[in-house]
Amino acid sequence: MKYYSTNGQAPIADLEKAVVKGLAEDRGLYMPETINGLPQAFIDDMPSMSFQDIAYNVASQFFGDDVDPDALQDIVYDTLQFDCPVVKVEDNIYSLELFHGPTLAFKDVGARFMARLLQYFIKGKNSAGAAGETVNVLVATSGDTGSAVANGFLGVDGIHVYVLYPKGKVSPIQECQFTTLGQNITAIEVDGVFDDCQRLVKSAFMDEELNKHMRLTSANSINVARFLPQSFYYFNAYARIKETGMENSEIVMCVPSGNFGNICSALFGHQMGLPVSRFIAANNANDVFYKYLQTGSYEPKASVQTLANAMDVGDPSNFARILNLYSENGKLSAKDTHSAITSLISGATYSDEQIAQTMRQCYADTGYVLDPHGACGYRALKEQLRPGEVGIFCETAHPAKFKEKVDQILGTDIEIPARLQAFMKGKKQSVAMSKDFEDFKKFLLGC
Ligand SMILES: *Cc1c(COP(=O)(O)O)cnc(C)c1O
Repeated sequence: MKYYSTNGQAPIADLEKAVVKGLAEDRGLYMPETINGLPQAFIDDMPSMSFQDIAYNVASQFFGDDVDPDALQDIVYDTLQFDCPVVKVEDNIYSLELFHGPTLAFKDVGARFMARLLQYFIKGKNSAGAAGETVNVLVATSGDTGSAVANGFLGVDGIHVYVLYPKGKVSPIQECQFTTLGQNITAIEVDGVFDDCQRLVKSAFMDEELNKHMRLTSANSINVARFLPQSFYYFNAYARIKETGMENSEIVMCVPSGNFGNICSALFGHQMGLPVSRFIAANNANDVFYKYLQTGSYEPKASVQTLANAMDVGDPSNFARILNLYSENGKLSAKDTHSAITSLISGATYSDEQIAQTMRQCYADTGYVLDPHGACGYRALKEQLRPGEVGIFCETAHPAKFKEKVDQILGTDIEIPARLQAFMKGKKQSVAMSKDFEDFKKFLLGC
């Protein structure tokens, strides 16, 4: 499979280059040249298949040309060591729980898959006799991404991860998930804000001297190896809903969205034949996509802080992929692209007050504890589901990741899963760093 850039100015890349580079030379996002439809026989058989087998079939469509079948199966099975179950919340509304992985959020799937795929390409190189140089992954985080990437890459040989995070700006529960790991993970506590961390990472990628000395790559969500594997759990959700006897209902998939990588993978699934009749992108107060759906014009703006902070994004990077997909790589006019998008996707936007009120209502009526992100998805289904439809919303993180907020809103004392408690018992190891690039560079060169 070849990959082109959404900006159309970069050379076509193969999978290895797309994964190792992340972003194309023209700063565009890589898109697969073809999206193969899955055979009807596979769609029909899914309900009798396991999550792993469904995922392997889907993965083969994307990566089958470029990765040896046994290795791909190994990567898929290794990634999906946890389940993504569909849980009934009330009549016609189901929660797709994506938080049973190591750091209790959906990013675990893409992070682990990317780690193993990158390792596969590095190993191939090494056995072919090229220099067996360590690949260094740099990631800036305000919380969730750093923990998922650190845990996904933990113990993967040939790769070292540097997680840069702003001192004092990450919750203790999040911080312990990437500062207590050791091994090939180095946490760097930057005396600054998230934007400083991101700037340090970007400067490192552009620094010639640094790039001569070490192989650097990024693991943020624009990487094809991180976002495409997220389509696996949408296929599995379809299969599991079929088992519940809801087979005659139209399926509506609702995705709480920030950078739009997660919903984008669902849309790729839809292009491959996933039988979902429509999608809802649920936003917090950061409503640029919602506004685009209403008006047809896309106006990025600074993000605002909300209760659902992993969705505090003012210029979602994967919007470029959605536009590219429905404009058929620029063939359709802006107007036709907008109508293609609005005929399949609707939006929703909620204030913090609405999020909190939704969490309380759902808990009182059903006993189900929503986290602030999932609450946006649940509410959008409550408001927009039509007769004859069954709605599935992604519960993108375990509520215990936001324990303080959730307990305060619901008046609960929710239990912290053992996995999270184990992190909290670990010893914090991090490197203190100024926000000055020269300091960071000196540190990396000394590693
Ligand atoms: C990252 C994240 C999101 C947003 O996902 P996108 O792919 O960026 O749209 C939603 N909820 C949680 C808990 C997240 O960590």
